[in-house]
Amino acid sequence: MQIDIITIFPEYFESPLKVGLLGKALQKGLLEINLVNLRDFCQDKHRVVDDEPFGGGEGMVFKPEPLYRAITSLKQKSKSPWVVYLSPQGEVLNQKIAEELSQKQHLILICGRYEGIDERIKETLIDQEVSIGDYVVFGGEVASLVLIECIARLIPGVVGKKDSVEKESFSSGLLKYPCYTRPRDFMGLKVPEVLLSGNHAAIEVYRRQKSLELTLKKRPHLLRQTLLSQEDLNFLAN
Ligand code: SAM
Repeated sequence: MQIDIITIFPEYFESPLKVGLLGKALQKGLLEINLVNLRDFCQDKHRVVDDEPFGGGEGMVFKPEPLYRAITSLKQKSKSPWVVYLSPQGEVLNQKIAEELSQKQHLILICGRYEGIDERIKETLIDQEVSIGDYVVFGGEVASLVLIECIARLIPGVVGKKDSVEKESFSSGLLKYPCYTRPRDFMGLKVPEVLLSGNHAAIEVYRRQKSLELTLKKRPHLLRQTLLSQEDLNFLAN
């Protein structure tokens, strides 16, 4: 997968793209990220990307021309580019959206700043608006990073054990069961006996039930969207 990020702050991404599993994935070439400075697509001496909003009001707006040039030139790089504008007004990101986007070959992410981008770019060149939640941050860079981390985890080979992605919260539709590690007794708090029993079938049942319990407590709406077995339903009914 190839991801182009259009931003006025390419330096924002320097460290995040070097560290952890994302850094390793980039080194291994499992995905490719290309930082594109929007100012490189300005044709004026001062490389101005923004202007005042028509009709007055607060802040500045990204002008259409540099964005138009940047997006159209990047779209030519592949047969099936998919252009995403990170925006508080977009569909709120969830695992399903991340899964869909992880299937794309070429993503072009647009990071807004100030009051956002000229509406005509949204109408003509943007395939999808994605939000990281119902709140407003300074710019689309942090939102792009959130999106990239969600997507990268789903690319085969990025996360070591396939299981660790499949069994995560949301992948099965439920929240993940609680995890414990050594010591067995931490300040009098003991690891549940079943996890020390070596009985894998019993461990599976315990974990499924804990997932159901946690989901019911913390994200009950997920249960309505998840395929539950008769055993699950019996457990929840008690
Ligand atoms: N004036 C805009 C509004 O009220 O909808 C908010 C602009 S915001 C200050 C500047 C940029 O940050 C946006 O263009 C967008 O790229 C990004 N941004 C802010 N909040 C976001 C969110 N929740 N999800 C994704 N991007 C966001």
